[in-house]
Amino acid sequence: MSVNIAIDGPAGAGKSTIAKRLAEQLGFIYVDTGAMYRAMAYYFLTEQIDAADEAKIGAACPGADVTIAYENGEQQVLLNGKNVNGVIRAEEVGNMASVVSAYPAVRAKLVELQRQLAAKSDVIMDGRDIGTCVLPDAQVKIYLTASSATRAKRRFDELTAKGTVCDLAAIERDIIDRDYRDMHRETSPLKQAEDAVLVDSSKMDIDEVVDAIYQIYREAV
Ligand code: C5P
Repeated sequence: MSVNIAIDGPAGAGKSTIAKRLAEQLGFIYVDTGAMYRAMAYYFLTEQIDAADEAKIGAACPGADVTIAYENGEQQVLLNGKNVNGVIRAEEVGNMASVVSAYPAVRAKLVELQRQLAAKSDVIMDGRDIGTCVLPDAQVKIYLTASSATRAKRRFDELTAKGTVCDLAAIERDIIDRDYRDMHRETSPLKQAEDAVLVDSSKMDIDEVVDAIYQIYREAV
């Protein structure tokens, strides 16, 4: 049986950085489920479908075939056979993903794909509903969070380092809005699974978080 580690938490908590590092350390496959929601969102954007029109989004779902491949250990998301990794990180795509991920038709499709991946390999999967819905039997469940101020500052530093001019207060507002939508939707809202271990990274650096989760894994498996 494959070993599954679920990492959930709000936007910008460092889930993907930590999960990637741990996957490398443990020889697991890293599955970034947010990227799958972003690929669906990108499809709806290119089809110019209004995010608020749930019926149209639902009807368009069969036209978006999302699959995953790995290149040098990096997850690549393919949308109808085309690699979309380079375009799904845009702010516009993230905002669309945050809205359409509330629709059951969008989620059902991706949850199925995520379960298939976890059944055939040892995976570290990050997202919002992995411990509560996608992999309820995961051997290790982590809820990784940090204060919204910390998360906004990390994102601000990341963008500034890339030379992007941005506004810290606007980034924090965006993070708070996204969390609110993820936590208050009806289908698979973001919440800590009952059997998940809470890790608050507000005052921790990356190495400390990786070590803490590694210890939790060692104790559990
Ligand atoms: O994690 P990331 O910011 O890339 O995810 C994009 C959006 O996809 C999130 O804002 C969230 O609304 C949604 N998402 C989700 N369930 C997941 C992963 C992501 O609803 N498992």
